[in-house]
Amino acid sequence: MSFKAILVEQAEKGVTAAIREVGEEQLPEGDVTVAIDYSTLNYKDGLILGGLGGLVKRYPHVPGADFAGTVESARSGKFKPGDKVILNGWRVGEVQWGGYAQKARVKPEWLVRLPDGLSTKEAMAIGTAGYTAMLAVMALEQHGIGPDSGEILVTGAAGGVGSVAVALLAALGHTVAASTGRPETHPYLRALGAGTIVDRAELAEAPKRLLASERFAGGIDTVGSTTLANLLTQIKYRGSVAACGLAAGNDLPTTVIPFIIRGVNLLGIDSVMAPLPLRVEAWRRLATVLPKAKLAAMTEMVPLAGVVEAATRILTGGVRGRLVVDVNA
Ligand code: NDP
Repeated sequence: MSFKAILVEQAEKGVTAAIREVGEEQLPEGDVTVAIDYSTLNYKDGLILGGLGGLVKRYPHVPGADFAGTVESARSGKFKPGDKVILNGWRVGEVQWGGYAQKARVKPEWLVRLPDGLSTKEAMAIGTAGYTAMLAVMALEQHGIGPDSGEILVTGAAGGVGSVAVALLAALGHTVAASTGRPETHPYLRALGAGTIVDRAELAEAPKRLLASERFAGGIDTVGSTTLANLLTQIKYRGSVAACGLAAGNDLPTTVIPFIIRGVNLLGIDSVMAPLPLRVEAWRRLATVLPKAKLAAMTEMVPLAGVVEAATRILTGGVRGRLVVDVNA
């Protein structure tokens, strides 16, 4: 039986991406075949659909860094037909067959069972971005940051990772400041739980001083570059910043002063190769902590046919919150 998938193919200049009918025999090797309900659009998917970043090594390629669906068949004993599952990371949609298809075939160790209390649609409204936000929140907690520690700044706040981070921190009782470059998102960010809005421009210039006034107990940074460098100078004594993104650049023009004078911790967040127990815990907490109404408010649905247009929007910082891809629409 054939099914629909987005195939990215090499063209004379760059790549093309279009919906194609593909056969089961084109699925890769793997133990578990999943009927996909939903995938999502993350920043990395935008790069891949645009043929950017040198991430894809072999064409034709099916992108989509995450998906949720139902197990159709399984050779190993870990999963059985009918099980609801989530997949994110493991370089799926990058070097492996991805989620922009009605089916995928994967290794059982890549799959997480859908936690109680989440539908496959809600799981993908969270997606890689939301799960990364949860990993960042958990890293701050492991470094002693609690609701009484003080204000936490989220940068790139109106994006996917940022929106979920704001909602999670607020739900956990933290005081949240949200940094954005889009004034039109201020009401949205306040509704997600941000008490203060910080203009992106305040953090965009290279830091003028080695240390600024101690303002934030912690931060979740999706932007990198001078934004992260500025944030580090404003972190309170023994505070922490979880670094998970590079929306403004992969450089970090900082000094060691925040680390050696204020004992600031810079915590690296990787969602792609994170070990299974950490994933399971992150998804369990997402299912219990994240308010459903806030998740719905940050979610936009797109059909498979809308993915290519949406990819250009995410690359120009034009997506608010999360984009869920209905691969069967
Ligand atoms: P989005 O595009 O949804 O959000 C990024 C946000 O960053 C934008 O909405 C915008 O926020 C801000 N931004 C964009 N360009 C600039 C700029 N030039 N200067 C300052 N701010 C800017 O992406 P995601 O939320 O999905 O991902 C965010 C980052 O996290 C990406 O770099 C992505 O690659 C990374 N990531 C890393 C993961 C990991 O495992 N470490 C996993 C998932 C994502 P606003 O409009 O509010 O200013």
